[in-house]
Amino acid sequence: MIYKKRKMPNELKALISLDKRLPHTHEKKHAVQKNLLIYQAGYNGELEFDNEIANFKPNYPHAIIHDLYLHHEGTYFQIDSLLITPSSITIIEVKNFKDRTLIKANPTQFIRVFRNGNRKPIPNPIIEVERKIHFLQKWLTKCGIQIPIEGIITFSDTNELAIEHQTPEMKILLNSAVPPYLNSLPETQQILDQQTIEALANTMLAHHKDYNPFPIADLYDINPSDIKPGVICPSCNQIGMRWGREKWNCPCGHTGKTEHYQTIEDWFMLVKPKMTNREFRYFTKLDNRNIARGLLAKTGLQLIGERKAAHYILMKEGKSPILVE
Ligand SMILES: [Zn+2]
Repeated sequence: MIYKKRKMPNELKALISLDKRLPHTHEKKHAVQKNLLIYQAGYNGELEFDNEIANFKPNYPHAIIHDLYLHHEGTYFQIDSLLITPSSITIIEVKNFKDRTLIKANPTQFIRVFRNGNRKPIPNPIIEVERKIHFLQKWLTKCGIQIPIEGIITFSDTNELAIEHQTPEMKILLNSAVPPYLNSLPETQQILDQQTIEALANTMLAHHKDYNPFPIADLYDINPSDIKPGVICPSCNQIGMRWGREKWNCPCGHTGKTEHYQTIEDWFMLVKPKMTNREFRYFTKLDNRNIARGLLAKTGLQLIGERKAAHYILMKEGKSPILVE
């Protein structure tokens, strides 16, 4: 059973917004677009893996958790996908590289071979997964659970892999080969019963916290004044909807009443975790303070402070249509 589905990572969501709002001539544009492609490819690979693992339906109790983020003694660790079965826990690291990946043994090396023939060694994902296994072992010990933890590294089916020697220390597979591989494993001793598996999965979810990279202008060292303000039209994707006759209007003909929700979300993701009436007007290019107040009142944001100190923040557990986390 799947206990947690994957959603678009916060950093990818923020990079998509940042790319729309950063001028083409900006010195960080290239870095932003490069990372956007890396994150998008990673996420696509993960979605492909999720589709494949949905075909894994063993007759023993099990739990699958996608994109789990736990911490142990001040260190956070992120697991792409986790499988709990009665006899073991498997950490699955999902990779997606469009270039050829060469895997050499003795010593184990992962090398990306680009189309022009250039080669570049990449950080060894086996070491990454071993580090996560080590952390998870410690985390589980605190819960009083002792169980073997395995690692699998899986690549998108469209990736080209050249494995010189199957690495003895960890299984490397393509996404579509993961369910048959898991099905082929013999059922060994039962360490966890169904109830314990459920309880453990729920404890992990209770400790999970989404990675929060916001505001990413800080992360990329971008001056917020370089970020283009304006309401983005969901129909033509251009910045510059204007408020009039009680709705947002785009030159392309699209109109709507809620397009500023995305603009506010962009502000929180890109610029800072609070927003004043003046900042809202700047970022939506609205000139009327009262209209701004009226629109903000309907967003479900929390108003803090009075007069000049007044600002809006996201409600922790409110029912705001604006979801940053
Ligand atoms: Zn438009």
